[in-house]
Amino acid sequence: MWTDEVRKLKQEKNAVILAHNYQIPEIQDIADFTGDSLALSRIAAKTDADVIVFCGVHFMAESAKILSPDKTVLIPDADAGCSLADSITADQLREWKAQHPDALVVSYVNTTAEVKALTDICCTSSNAVDVVNSIDPDQEILFCPDQFLGAHVKRETGRENIRIWAGECHVHAGINGKDLADQAAAHPEAPLYIHPECGCANSAIYLAGEGVIDPQRVHMLSTGGMLEQAGRDTEGTVLVATEVGMLHQLQQASPAVDFQPVNPKASCTYMKMITPEKLVASLREMRDEVTVPEDVAAKARQSLERMIAIGNPGSGE
Ligand code: SF4
Repeated sequence: MWTDEVRKLKQEKNAVILAHNYQIPEIQDIADFTGDSLALSRIAAKTDADVIVFCGVHFMAESAKILSPDKTVLIPDADAGCSLADSITADQLREWKAQHPDALVVSYVNTTAEVKALTDICCTSSNAVDVVNSIDPDQEILFCPDQFLGAHVKRETGRENIRIWAGECHVHAGINGKDLADQAAAHPEAPLYIHPECGCANSAIYLAGEGVIDPQRVHMLSTGGMLEQAGRDTEGTVLVATEVGMLHQLQQASPAVDFQPVNPKASCTYMKMITPEKLVASLREMRDEVTVPEDVAAKARQSLERMIAIGNPGSGE
């Protein structure tokens, strides 16, 4: 069995296995910890493991390395990228900053280490509003890379001096307002768990504002927030607007609830590149190692630590 092989190799290498919530169920089940990217990186940093195997996408493994510079960090497939992190490069951010030299940069954690190093303060989907509210109201802000999360923050804070980068995740952008309106009409009593990165997030607010959906039904939640809310919703149907891998954790958290995806095709191909075979090979051959140059890591760590210092470490994707 591949699971026996993973357990044996894990002991031999003194490794800890992390699985993001969007991984396939078999990977989630073999992992030592399953959760959102930042929480996993923080947990791994506190373990005495020599090796971290991050079953997720590349920027997440970079975050683990930033917070655990002395541990070896592996990802079972270094090609597992992220369309959202790719939507702003370090060069693009440098250019944007040059156009607005007095602005502060707030970046969602779905960014490369290089982009984090150019960032003043990071944020997650659950603390983005708190992070922006912690900044002087007269201070201009550049928010990147996610336009839907940026729109959510702008709406919640009421700030006008915030410029938003037009990036998006192809999976979350594909969960649109029509899917949401159709599902909400088909399940008129069901609560809605909506990740603020979703294309439908603005629609949910709009539909709630128009009285089409009862605002009480709409919960804008990070993946960690969804799990907490699942502990409170103990029966009936719940509609979930995020990547479909999340349903496995939600179903375990609240087995009597029927969790239904708003878009059943919302599956991240990058996340699904991590397979049991690649996990075994990763541990056996100690690949693919993820490294971050120390000067980049030091600056990126500062932008993460400034976020943690505001008192709500948050949970991201
Ligand atoms: S679901 Fe979107 S944001 Fe998340 S890893 Fe995949 S591409 Fe990136």
